[in-house]
Amino acid sequence: MRVVLADLRGRDEYVSKDSVAGGYGSRVTPFSRVIRTVAWFKERFITVPSGQLAYVAAIFADMRHEVVFVNDENDTPDADVAIVLTSLVDHRREARWGDAMRARGARVGAIGLTASKMPELYDHWVDFVVNGEPEHAARRLAAGEQLTGRIASPAVDDLDGLPFPRWDLVGMRPERRGLRIIRPAGRGFPLVASRGCPEFCTYCPHRILAEYRARSVENVGDELELLCGRYPNPYVIFRDPLFTQERDRMLALCDEIRRRELVLEFECETRLDRLDPDLIDRLRQAGLRSISFGVESVSSETLRRVARRPTPPEHQRAIVNHCRRRGIYTAGFYVIGFLQDDWNSVAATIHYAIDLASTFAQFKILTPYPGTPLWKQLAPLVYERDWQRFDGFTPTFHHPSLRAEELNFLLTAAYTRFYMRPSFAVNFSRVQDRRAHSFACRMDRRVAALHGRQEEAQMRPVIC
Ligand code: SF4
Repeated sequence: MRVVLADLRGRDEYVSKDSVAGGYGSRVTPFSRVIRTVAWFKERFITVPSGQLAYVAAIFADMRHEVVFVNDENDTPDADVAIVLTSLVDHRREARWGDAMRARGARVGAIGLTASKMPELYDHWVDFVVNGEPEHAARRLAAGEQLTGRIASPAVDDLDGLPFPRWDLVGMRPERRGLRIIRPAGRGFPLVASRGCPEFCTYCPHRILAEYRARSVENVGDELELLCGRYPNPYVIFRDPLFTQERDRMLALCDEIRRRELVLEFECETRLDRLDPDLIDRLRQAGLRSISFGVESVSSETLRRVARRPTPPEHQRAIVNHCRRRGIYTAGFYVIGFLQDDWNSVAATIHYAIDLASTFAQFKILTPYPGTPLWKQLAPLVYERDWQRFDGFTPTFHHPSLRAEELNFLLTAAYTRFYMRPSFAVNFSRVQDRRAHSFACRMDRRVAALHGRQEEAQMRPVIC
């Protein structure tokens, strides 16, 4: 059987799919020069092939089916079965491609979080829509079953029983030597050591498809060893929503990497309260180069309202400073527009992000994603009817205190203030010299005053 797998590229804007926003995806529209630059870097250094499709490819290849990968919407090769990875932010293109493949005689299916939670976006354009993690449905297809309509695909209980992802079948690009800024350009290997998240943040789509499950350390070690054997010194991107949830398991993984003498570098995403200096040092020895974490808001009361357990600011600072001393890049995630937010509280969060001084920061506008508790809470306030605009950067509901223009302005100001300051360059260059840092901080204050004057001329200064 010939199986075509599609992870379609967005056009003109930077679109991320697969595990971004749990699978709903995000779209960065370059609405300022700073964002255009951020999007440019993301496109070249952050984009990697889909882990979900790599698992599906492995299942079909194991059953000796031919696997063909496409990422261009105009590419509609002959196929017996075609599977498209879905996203909320680009669902029309995916549905169009499914329809075109169906017209060419393939039986077409849709997989991913969006297909699972919003099947009505695909029902008319494809033959079957998979609800759940895709591996169970892929095994049925690979065994020759014909699927039709909405198909329940139960979560995988035994993650160790899955074949390892086949990156060679889903468009992994050869490494471009010399082009390496933290990650090698387009050449990071996503690896999922656990799925789901045991936390309860009401806005988060990472926890709505299936429960938290973790692979054994030995199984993860086997996959890392295989990667190291095929691709020397690989850069591994752990895509677990909460990588360091189990401290002992992390220490065991560090031991496993050392015992097998694996040479690799990796990054991960976690909560700051799931890190401590000793654990960071062990992870660093094993190859850790970069950590991403959610801060979301400076207000612990705001976080409690969305069922997010706040992490004490002293602990956040201690961890970020420790990472800086160890040469580990850090990236903090922030959300603008919680229901309790007003101009001053958003300004306070932006200033906290600058003061915390992670290497990078990502700011998004609160988005009520379908299937989350936040969606149920905010549904009466939602005015946006185009699901493609639920992209993490566009206001979608009537905020009680902030107009859409104000949210957009604050978002733009957050990126400008964070990235257009001397300390960003110093942190990014991993300069350790104290005099350089204190000089950059003094210059930061001057630049901040300039930003304030520019903001005042446009709307209002972002100060708290
Ligand atoms: S800790 Fe992170 S991944 Fe887990 S539910 Fe909260 S926001 Fe989502």
